[in-house]
Amino acid sequence: MRLILLGPPGAGKGTQAEKIVSGFGIPQLSTGDMLREAVKLRTKTGLHAREIMERGDLVPDELVVAVVADRLDQPDAANGFVLDGFPRTLAQAVALDKELYQRNLRLDAVLELKVDESILVDRVKTRAEQMAKRGETVRSDDTPKVCERRLDIYRAQTVPVIEHYRSQGLLTSIDGLQPIEAVTEDLAAAIAAVPVNAIRRQK
Ligand code: ADP
Repeated sequence: MRLILLGPPGAGKGTQAEKIVSGFGIPQLSTGDMLREAVKLRTKTGLHAREIMERGDLVPDELVVAVVADRLDQPDAANGFVLDGFPRTLAQAVALDKELYQRNLRLDAVLELKVDESILVDRVKTRAEQMAKRGETVRSDDTPKVCERRLDIYRAQTVPVIEHYRSQGLLTSIDGLQPIEAVTEDLAAAIAAVPVNAIRRQK
C-alpha cells in the first residue's frame, strides 16, 4: 500500500497515520517528524530548516524532496508507506510522481482529511496545552499566530495538491470532524476500496 494522507495542520493526520501503521504494517513517512529530527541532530538540513519551521513557512521543495527520496529507499518502505505532511506544494507532488515513476512504483490512494478551518487553531492550542501538561516539549510552531500562518500556507500551496490527485482519480475525502474512531473506519474503508488490480500491478 502506498498512501498519502493530506489535511491542514491540526486535522489529525499524525493520529490517523499511526492507526494506518498498526493496521497495515507500513511505515509512516512524516516530513515534519523527519525535519524535526534533523533540527534536533543539527544536520545540515536541520540547520537550514529550523528558523523556517519556527515561522511556520515551508522548507524549500528541493530539500524536502531529497529527504523523502532517501526515505523511500530505506528497506522498511519497500512494501509500502503512508506519507504524512508531504507533498505540500504542487512542485513536491510533481517531484514525487517522478521519484515513484523512476522506481516503477505507483500510489494506491490519496486520503484527504477535511476539517472546518474555524476549529483548527483551537485544536492546535489544545494539543500544545496537553503536551505541556504531560511534561512533553511543546512544538515551537504550535502557537496560535504560527498556526494561522501554517493555515494560510496550506490554503495557498497545498490545496492545489488536492486537485492534482483528484484529477489523477486517486483522491478520497474524509470528514475529519468525526470522532477519531469514525475517521479511522472511513479511512480503512477508503483503503479497502482501492482496486486490487492497482495493488497487484506493483511489485
Ligand atoms: P502540521 O501538519 O501540523 O503543520 P508538520 O509536522 O507536518 O505539521 O510540519 C511542521 C513544519 O515542517 C511545517 O510547518 C514546515 O515548516 C515543515 N514541513 C513539513 N513537511 C514539509 C514539506 N513537505 N514541505 C515543506 N516544509 C515542510
